[in-house]
Amino acid sequence: MTDISIQDTDVLVLGGGPAGTWAALHAARNGARVVLADKAYCGTSGAAAASNNNVWYIPNPAVHEAEFAARFASGGGLSEPGWTAALLEGAIEQLHLLAKLGYPFPKTETGDINYATLRGPDYMRFMRLQIRRAGVQILDHSPMLGLLQQDGRVVGAHGVSRDGSRWQVNAFATVLATGGCAFMSGALGTNVNTGDGHLAAGEAGARFSGMEFSNQYGLAASHSSVTKGLPFVWSTYTREDGTVVPVTDDEPFVSVARVLIDEPVFAVFDRANANIQRWLRSGQANAFLPFDRMGIDPFTQRFPVGLRLEGTVRGTGGIRLCARDCATDVPGLYAAGDAASRETVVGGRTGGGSPNSAWAIVTGSWAGAAASEFAKRQGTRIVARRDDVALSPVEPSRELIRQHVWSMRTNLFRSAAVLTPAVNLLDDAWRETPADAAQLAEARSARAMLYVARLAYRSALQRKESRALHQRSDHPGRSDAMRHRLVVGGLDSFEFSADAVAT
Ligand SMILES: Cc1cc2nc3c(=O)[nH]c(=O)nc-3n(C[C@H](O)[C@H](O)[C@H](O)COP(=O)(O)OP(=O)(O)OC[C@H]3O[C@@H](n4cnc5c(N)ncnc54)[C@H](O)[C@@H]3O)c2cc1C
Repeated sequence: MTDISIQDTDVLVLGGGPAGTWAALHAARNGARVVLADKAYCGTSGAAAASNNNVWYIPNPAVHEAEFAARFASGGGLSEPGWTAALLEGAIEQLHLLAKLGYPFPKTETGDINYATLRGPDYMRFMRLQIRRAGVQILDHSPMLGLLQQDGRVVGAHGVSRDGSRWQVNAFATVLATGGCAFMSGALGTNVNTGDGHLAAGEAGARFSGMEFSNQYGLAASHSSVTKGLPFVWSTYTREDGTVVPVTDDEPFVSVARVLIDEPVFAVFDRANANIQRWLRSGQANAFLPFDRMGIDPFTQRFPVGLRLEGTVRGTGGIRLCARDCATDVPGLYAAGDAASRETVVGGRTGGGSPNSAWAIVTGSWAGAAASEFAKRQGTRIVARRDDVALSPVEPSRELIRQHVWSMRTNLFRSAAVLTPAVNLLDDAWRETPADAAQLAEARSARAMLYVARLAYRSALQRKESRALHQRSDHPGRSDAMRHRLVVGGLDSFEFSADAVAT
């Protein structure tokens, strides 16, 4: 029989990236007993820990309206001023708290604190230290497999530990902060982001929003996983014969993809002057490691580029939040960070990185505070039975994802003609069960990726227009009738509804 450890807590946080650690910190500061479970090692795992995060930190509230207007336009008119204002105010408050807690922010040239830059590795190490100091119990290398549910409420979760033993945490409130889904494309830090939280939330009855906007790709040297986009701002793209590839789309990666589908594309950061080169090298050190290791000077020598699917990590869809306390459609379940839909602040396109990390910090803080308040209001503890979780065959599911979800032909240049056969194959795979359950966590993640892909493609078929990241060649224009957020729920089949955009 498999060993199982069972414990009770007030708040359970699933995922230990920025969203999860901020949720845990605020729940603990509000007096809750908190357990945090991470699939890998909290402090080094996830999209932020591996990279630099520029943060949407706009200290002057007078320009918040202009910030909203810019994102509203680039995101296809689906974001809301109320959410944006609350997010920008929340980011100021939490970043100032981070400084008060002692995080060594870099300084600007004038000697002021540069709140807009977080260095992923030391930021996340710092967050781990803070939550431990606040009394949070951390379960590392302990992927969540499923949520516990009783009478329509989420009452904790269960998972597996590195030694193969099982764990169960009974909680009054649960925060899902398992990140987005990048479909194991290898983009820096994202191979843990397989949509496990999405699947568990969907099984519990949560709904999703904006899943059609989950086709973000990151530019990288073809030999590298580092999809840091900033240096590419100064890039010239060429074909093999040296002809320039013009950037004619809102997103440069889309212009590159148009050519890359059929032939190699090369880049060189030749538009960066000496000052910018110095600044890029000091601020984005890890972006240059792959070049240094290969002996390439990317400012003078061209190199082949590739695109890696970042899915909902830098796309915008995810679990639908019902209110600013980050409650989902299911009582007792909260969501934060990339796991939650960011549409209310950026619509159908992130349009440059920084809102993502602000979203993770602020929604994490809101979710942690709200979950701990919810926990205080509960009386008798409900202990639910742990059901077996549904699994999918590991390698066949991954292969299908590689073929039909990484594919720019299907996922980027969309039409019913390419999406329909792909989603039918994903549906067929969804009905398959693995021959044995030996690779429990992997088989669960394989199923989660199939689930997120099906949500994304079904939503893409449902939105019969082109808006922001979602571009359909069979519906090229924008439709006024679709100026709403698309909400989807279900498992074997899906139901759609619409959320109006508040002004
Ligand atoms: C290369 C790159 C550069 C980026 N640069 C920027 C930037 O400059 N500015 C910006 O705003 N944003 C940036 N982003 C996006 C930003 O990193 C993310 O928005 C942010 O990390 C989201 O935080 P999170 O906590 O929601 O997810 P993550 O940081 O991905 O953390 C998710 C955590 O959940 C854990 N987890 C997953 N599944 C399970 C499970 N089953 N059980 C338990 N735990 C689980 C993972 O191990 C991980 O620790 C970048 C992303 C990438 C990939």
